[in-house]
Amino acid sequence: MKYIDLHIHTTYSDGSFTPRQAVQYAKKLGLAAIAIADHDTTDGLDDAIEQGILDGIEVVPGVELNIYDDGNLDREIHLLGYYIDWRDREFQGELAKFRDARKTRAIEITDRLRRLGIDIDINKVFGMSKGGAVGRMHFARILAERGVVNSITEAFEQYLALGRPAYVPKYRLNPEQGIRIITNTGGIPVIAHPIFGGNSTEVIEKLAELGLAGIEIYHSRHLARDVKELKGLAERLNLLITGGTDCHGPLDGKEPRMGSLPVPYKILEELKAFHQSNRS
Ligand code: AMP
Ligand code: FE
Ligand code: FE
Ligand code: ZN
Repeated sequence: MKYIDLHIHTTYSDGSFTPRQAVQYAKKLGLAAIAIADHDTTDGLDDAIEQGILDGIEVVPGVELNIYDDGNLDREIHLLGYYIDWRDREFQGELAKFRDARKTRAIEITDRLRRLGIDIDINKVFGMSKGGAVGRMHFARILAERGVVNSITEAFEQYLALGRPAYVPKYRLNPEQGIRIITNTGGIPVIAHPIFGGNSTEVIEKLAELGLAGIEIYHSRHLARDVKELKGLAERLNLLITGGTDCHGPLDGKEPRMGSLPVPYKILEELKAFHQSNRS
């Protein structure tokens, strides 16, 4: 059996593997394919694809965007886009808006932490994401490294999660715009980790009407019964299924999640068939 992992973050957003290291790690694990799906950037794709050619690993171009749930503005919806044309300038313009907003937000998070007595050098935070997509994970890593908290999880629980004192909401698009940004550039829009995101069946049904093409059913934070339920939903709504670990590299002393879920290669074949049929 050939296995894949369609949800990997790199140093261009909040992962700790460079794109090349991610591919090399996939090779070590014996995976057949991985998708790089950084938050709000595709800047890691070229390196990953090149490394994939060297190592014989199929690299699927991806991205992960944020949209909001009209029914519940506190809730995030993460939208994956596979096989986007990342050289499309209009698309890059949209991604740049997300990243610019992330910079302003990072400054606000720094201010909030300072008011709580925690001084963080904003340039260190920007340096960690190589000018890419800066986010809460970078702050969490610094807080854990400094011993302000005992773990990354604790950094979210105490400071960065919704309702905690250093939380600052993100720039997000409405669902229709988000889906369109991906389909306009030939990509396949897939809802990421709906159970982890707390996104209801009704939300997925609504997105399907707007052109959502798939559901990420396998995910590190999904239980076996979630997978089963989502598979049923995907069948009912005639949506593709995908899966990935949402690997951010090693976290809190644990092994990277990459490859820890048995996602069969057949899923990628169906994704590719869909992409081909969309193009012709
Ligand atoms: P941001 O995009 O800046 O809002 O950060 C969200 C990212 O932080 C997610 O993609 C996860 O990588 C990570 N994250 C969110 N909540 C948690 C949590 N409770 N524990 C660990 N990581 C989290
Ligand atoms: Fe992340
Ligand atoms: Fe996500
Ligand atoms: Zn992710």
